Amino acid sequence: MVYTNGRAAGNSAVRGPWPARIKPLENESLSSWLVRASLANHSTPSSIANYIWPGWRAWTRDIDRELSKSQLASLSLVSTLSPKELQNLTLRPVIQRITGKIELNTATAWKWVIQRSTRNKNTNRSTQFCPLCLHEDPKPYLRLQWRLSFITVCTKHNVNLLDCCPHCGESIEIHKINRGKLSSCAHCRWNITDVTPVKANREALSLTEHLIDDMHLAISDRFELLAFVTALVRRLPKLQDKIVDPFLMNVTKSAAKACVDEFSGISFDWLNSDDRRMLLTAAAPLMNIQPKGLAFILLNSGLSIGLVRNMVPNLPTVLASYFPIDNPTQRSAPRHIKQAIPKPTPKRLVQKRWQALLKKHGLS
Ligand SMILES: [Zn+2]
Ligand SMILES: [Zn+2]
Repeated sequence: MVYTNGRAAGNSAVRGPWPARIKPLENESLSSWLVRASLANHSTPSSIANYIWPGWRAWTRDIDRELSKSQLASLSLVSTLSPKELQNLTLRPVIQRITGKIELNTATAWKWVIQRSTRNKNTNRSTQFCPLCLHEDPKPYLRLQWRLSFITVCTKHNVNLLDCCPHCGESIEIHKINRGKLSSCAHCRWNITDVTPVKANREALSLTEHLIDDMHLAISDRFELLAFVTALVRRLPKLQDKIVDPFLMNVTKSAAKACVDEFSGISFDWLNSDDRRMLLTAAAPLMNIQPKGLAFILLNSGLSIGLVRNMVPNLPTVLASYFPIDNPTQRSAPRHIKQAIPKPTPKRLVQKRWQALLKKHGLS
């Protein structure tokens, strides 16, 4: 092996191309690969990052999200992976696929990325893991998709993901590991796979499997719908007195049982793994319905159309066509939806909606 610029005594960072060229593993995240590469080159994640990007405190940032062109170029020089290969270890291509947006704002949070920061009760629990995946890995590594907020279970092992050390409760912070494997806790040094995982519930598992397919197929409509449905489910417990649709009432009951409204002040991507899983489990029945059926339920739910519309900034594309145009003279369900209605809308509800409409437009 050629030591291009030497691992001279006292050099904690390897200069020049790394002697140990570590290839990324399947679906590995950039941070996981970089930590493994640091340790394989007898360095530490912090000294290697300081060497590659002097003056930039890489580990205080979320490098799994993206790197700038110049940062990719610097990393490419020492790692010998191409900038393209490196970019594929980041979340940028994934988020572009599931949001359908090529342009992503580098300065703001990205929807569906578990936020890497400390805020409220979600103290930096940004990295999830499956203890069984890590246990089976010949070389334990973190998967990129464990950074996505809508993934809370492992569909290979049918167990819940964890987002903190099962022994000391601290966050998984692999960049603080200076030796050993990524399966050891940086805080207490225990093996984080040494735990009996909890079996995932059927609803969460099935929804996650579908969402992973949607992600690979870049069906951004499904994620737009998911954002709407999770926002709706969080609001339902407080609206239960208004709901007349039996299906939505059942969803509301399971949402209330899961106490999903308790953390209503925190954005979905900031929640910890357990809270997101509870929310997704309660939301799963709504995601299983065809958009037309869901629109029918919502339009006849007892909730005002305005309220439903305002759950998210924009009504999902797949639902919008079934909703009346936002115009008082045309505010009724489209004819083809009405034909599919097996029961008439209760008179009381129609009157209530009419009153709300009049009030909104200052006509009452
Ligand atoms: Zn697993
Ligand atoms: Zn620990």
